[in-house]
Amino acid sequence: MSSWVTWWLEDAIPIALVTLLVLTVMFGPLERAFSARAEQRSWRAGSAVDLAFFFGQYLVWSALALMALDQVRLALGGVVPLAWRHDAAAWPLVVQVVAAVVLGDLLVYGWHRACHAVPVLWRFHAVHHTSEKLDWLAAHREHPLDGVTTQLAQNLPAMALGLSLGEVGALVVFRGMWGAFIHSNVRLDMGWLRYALGAPALHHHHHARDAARTANYANLAPWIDVLFGTYERPTGPETYALGVPEPAPRGYLALLVWPFLPRPQSGAYAPARNPSRAARRRALPLPPMGSSATEQVAHRRGSL
Ligand SMILES: [Zn+2]
Ligand SMILES: [Zn+2]
Repeated sequence: MSSWVTWWLEDAIPIALVTLLVLTVMFGPLERAFSARAEQRSWRAGSAVDLAFFFGQYLVWSALALMALDQVRLALGGVVPLAWRHDAAAWPLVVQVVAAVVLGDLLVYGWHRACHAVPVLWRFHAVHHTSEKLDWLAAHREHPLDGVTTQLAQNLPAMALGLSLGEVGALVVFRGMWGAFIHSNVRLDMGWLRYALGAPALHHHHHARDAARTANYANLAPWIDVLFGTYERPTGPETYALGVPEPAPRGYLALLVWPFLPRPQSGAYAPARNPSRAARRRALPLPPMGSSATEQVAHRRGSL
């Protein structure tokens, strides 16, 4: 027990407070300068719950997630053939990291898509989607079981390739920062980079309350959505409603137990289905650059 207290006092609490400060300083000015929803305040409905998720993640669940990651890393040592590991270890570090990131992106894309298609997984992932306002803090609203399984999917290739815990930790921090960015209340045109790196507009669209949740599953790598026909680039202003269609609790503890409670078999509870072939065809091609707002709205109506 005392080691937990030491960990809290010496590691967890200082890291949580410094991270909160760094994220506030990084994203606060960015959200004011490039707001996606200009009317949204920094402290808004749901901020206290998101802050509880933030501290829950840093003070409790991150330790359990790290332990799980370490156990899986050790177990993989006995599963992945040693010859593969030797081959991978001979690659330059940058190649190992790029391979780990790309394979992790592919795996987490599949996992995220499954979370929307399989009812029992949606129960947990729906907690993340209950945010009705998005900003960098809302990125932390995530059920711990959803969080740890996502971390596993993201980092499994890195661990299979034999990257050290420190290198895996650096990837976790990078992905965490990117997660905060794509949820932030920011609208930035990233030019041609929009196909290589996930942007807030794409992920906000994924959080739309309506059927748009069948698009943009990749956080970091939208080219994977392009590859599998789930890429949708919204072009109009962000005025659509966010959240889940089913009634959801609002408090932190209530959201933690929500996935375990019985729900109606039909009606309110209906996970988003993956797009049909026809819907995917409708989603592409993208509207022409510089098309008028009316044309863009018409395109969006047709593509949903
Ligand atoms: Zn989702
Ligand atoms: Zn999200």
